[in-house]
Amino acid sequence: MSTAAPVQGPLQGPIQGMNGTGELINILSSEELIRKRLAEERLRLEREAGIEKREIHHFHKPIERPFTKLQRDHTTILFGGLTWKHERLVHAALESLGYKCESVPVPNKKAFQLGKEYGNNGQCNPTYFTVGNLVQFVQDLEAKGLTKDEICDRYVFFTAGACGPCRFGMYEAEYRLALRNSGFEKFRVLLFQQSGGLNQAEAEAGLEMNMDFFLAILNALNIGDIINDVAYQIRPYEVNAGETDRVLEESMELLHDVMRRRKPWTLSESKSRAKLLAKTRFAGTAEYLGKFLNQIFGDDLMTALRQVRERFATIAIDRTRAKPIVKITGEFWAQTTEGDGNFNMFRFLEKEGAQVVVEPIGTWICYLMHQVVQKYHDQKGLDEGAAPPPAWRLDKHLKINLAMRKKILQIKIAEAIFKREYNRIIEALGGIGHHLVDQYELQRLGHPYYNSRAAGGEGHLEVAKNIYYSHKGLAHMVLALKPFGCMPSTQSDGAQSAVMSHYKDMIFLPIETSGEGDVNAHSRVQMALGEAKAKTKLEFKAALEASGRTLDEIRAYVEQHPELKSPMYKVPHGKSVIGGAASFVRHVAERMKAEGVPVSENRTSVAA
Ligand code: SF4
Repeated sequence: MSTAAPVQGPLQGPIQGMNGTGELINILSSEELIRKRLAEERLRLEREAGIEKREIHHFHKPIERPFTKLQRDHTTILFGGLTWKHERLVHAALESLGYKCESVPVPNKKAFQLGKEYGNNGQCNPTYFTVGNLVQFVQDLEAKGLTKDEICDRYVFFTAGACGPCRFGMYEAEYRLALRNSGFEKFRVLLFQQSGGLNQAEAEAGLEMNMDFFLAILNALNIGDIINDVAYQIRPYEVNAGETDRVLEESMELLHDVMRRRKPWTLSESKSRAKLLAKTRFAGTAEYLGKFLNQIFGDDLMTALRQVRERFATIAIDRTRAKPIVKITGEFWAQTTEGDGNFNMFRFLEKEGAQVVVEPIGTWICYLMHQVVQKYHDQKGLDEGAAPPPAWRLDKHLKINLAMRKKILQIKIAEAIFKREYNRIIEALGGIGHHLVDQYELQRLGHPYYNSRAAGGEGHLEVAKNIYYSHKGLAHMVLALKPFGCMPSTQSDGAQSAVMSHYKDMIFLPIETSGEGDVNAHSRVQMALGEAKAKTKLEFKAALEASGRTLDEIRAYVEQHPELKSPMYKVPHGKSVIGGAASFVRHVAERMKAEGVPVSENRTSVAA
């Protein structure tokens, strides 16, 4: 071992030093010496320039404590990010499967600030809101007296995950980072992979993502979609202010109760003869099939929905109020949330006299299925990385082709079943809910402006929905809610310029949502809404004139026919009109004519 100070030698030769017995030894070769001096000099220069390298601590996904079956009874699963209606039903669905669960409140501005404080900078707006919301929730629990360890032991958070390509792929890491930074590093985050399909169960998992789980969640989301839609259709026209919300709340409690008590179908508890299969080798298939058939033919949920319909049917509405219809599109979370995350936009629009058409989660589910079909078509059955067989191996080509067609068929069947279930709920709730828009139609409309294979966020849907609702006369105005920092929405904005130059009549307004700037956003919406209101008034006036009746005559007739005041009365959509009031006066006038109601002498009444 060298003990003496090195003797400074020429650069070409090695540096020498003396060992403990006084012998000269080589310490560094000239190469090593050059490297050493270079490094020292680089360090000196970097220090002078203030750019010296600091030790980097990359974020690594922590090895999480598992959430096991045994912990279910004393662990609460947290979830959130949807409307309170969807969340109430998801809550019931999870409870019916035996889980303890709780939804986190709708994110507010404080959540946004916490998301900024504890998360990464440069994220998109929904990340700040949702991540901060979880931090806020666990901090509130701590403020109520629970210790950090108790919170981490008794709660887990369940959320959707994906591998991108937009910032959605970073959500999981963001949750974990913010939890770590706020002192809850042991808190567990459970992921449901969007692309994971129906089999994400793990043997001892506390949360079993199996068929029962997916069916229960899908029912909750679908019912949430349609009941939400129905309430937004009725509220602007209610005669007694606040009645729709009251009926909605009562209905949600009824549905929550029914769904919570609904147990998954099992072969062993089945009342049919299929029970005999329970102890045979066909038990697995029979159980699977039974659950599926129970879902598509079972009537218990439909019965509850029909009761809800009866309650909604009692709300008196005035359809002669001419209101602009505003279709909401944009990024998934921004167009769904009902709070500070989108400037409370839906309530604002209603306050300003509009009827809002909200976007269902069902469209997103259909979009995901549609994209998988597109991918199979594009890949033509070839697996990623696999070498294609030579052209002369027709047998192999045929095999690949058949396998691809089988996969496509499976997804298409799933899509058809999903839509059938969705439509059953629409019918049970009175048939006034909007049906899901066909994905092929959306692709056809959107693709010329936004490549339908460009995934991320809403992909081509933002552009396609704008064209669909404007061009087909389903909305007077389209409002796209686009989060600050959202990559796919920014791309859509570019494409929307081309769309607007081709469809000159459309009223389209993109609004960037953030944790601040409500006043500015609301004032921009007011301006666009002014235009939509003018369009609505003209349309209503023209419809009234064409009907040959006055508004007073129409109203007097409605008074004598109370069924016309029920939200469940179906008014045919008038040709080349958008608004409900215009269609309504046309329809009532036709009924009056058919019944031979004489035309009034007094022609002074004007459109409202
Ligand atoms: S779609 Fe936009 S807002 Fe939503 S996660 Fe992706 S980047 Fe963020």
